[in-house]
Amino acid sequence: RAKNAGRGRVEVYDDDLRAALAAQAAVEEGLRHALAHDELVLHYQPVTDLDTGRVRSVEALVRWEKPGQGLVPPGAFIPVAEGSDLICDLGRWALRTSLAQLARLDAAGGPGAGLRVAVNISGRHLRSPRLVQDVRSALEAAGTAPDRLTLEVTETVMVEDDAAWARLEELRSLGVAVAIDDFGTGYTSFGQLARVPVDVLKIDRSFVDSEDPRTVELVRLVVGAARSFGLKVVAEGVEQASQVRALQAVGCDTAQGYYFSRPVPADRLPGAVEGCTRTFEATGSFETAL
Ligand code: C2E
Ligand code: MG
Ligand code: MG
Ligand code: MG
Repeated sequence: RAKNAGRGRVEVYDDDLRAALAAQAAVEEGLRHALAHDELVLHYQPVTDLDTGRVRSVEALVRWEKPGQGLVPPGAFIPVAEGSDLICDLGRWALRTSLAQLARLDAAGGPGAGLRVAVNISGRHLRSPRLVQDVRSALEAAGTAPDRLTLEVTETVMVEDDAAWARLEELRSLGVAVAIDDFGTGYTSFGQLARVPVDVLKIDRSFVDSEDPRTVELVRLVVGAARSFGLKVVAEGVEQASQVRALQAVGCDTAQGYYFSRPVPADRLPGAVEGCTRTFEATGSFETAL
């Protein structure tokens, strides 16, 4: 009986596995179709300067406009795309699309002009020897200066892989900036912070929304370390005025989050950029709050 039960479990497991693989294959198939048929869109979230209230850069975030299913968030398909080279196709698409969009915003003038854009690059793409060429050709196709582009990578990748590290150096020598995304959730030590080939450090939302005074001290330390290593700091996931003031008090340069603006389609970006500055002005500085 025990043997039967055991075998039964294995079969159930097999079925689950088969179902999971089939579901993954379906998402992959759907994504390939989406890439070929313009079902993917980029939304843009402004990053607000905590000294001036001005927005100088935005992050591009992919969404899938799936017919009949509305807007599918990246969490539902990026992990699947990362299982194959599909993620590199998506990365190339995001680079080309965001830079083309930037050029259109420049041409339109007004508050949406002259921004920098940050594009998320998956670890698999960073490990691919094609990345540098993908970035170069996207910049050339849009006629964009390299210093308008930032690549966001998660810290884990950099620590693991020497080739990826060298690739980041090469990209930076072209004039492209590199940001460590979700800092604090991976394995970068303070020591490595001094050496990683990056320009920007993005503090993960989990640190920003903590009320624990020790976490606030940790953020203060990270901001201080980043500063002395010449890195700019972005706080992610800022939802409240109190967080803005706390971040100003620890010397954080910039912030991104629903408090200032949700990610918006490109046509709404000029309005969102102005909205961030208005929100900043209504927040007041931390000195007036103290
Ligand atoms: P991320 O790069 O860390 O992006 C920040 C995420 O936080 C975005 O989620 C954004 O909408 C969300 N967010 C921004 N402000 C707030 C806030 O105040 N509160 C809360 N709760 N969330 C906030 P989103 O757009 O769902 O993207 C999730 C992740 O998917 C991204 O995390 C990134 O890792 C990945 N991703 C998005 N677009 C791309 C892409 O084009 N390529 C790749 N490889 N990954 C992407
Ligand atoms: Mg990001
Ligand atoms: Mg992030
Ligand atoms: Mg994050």
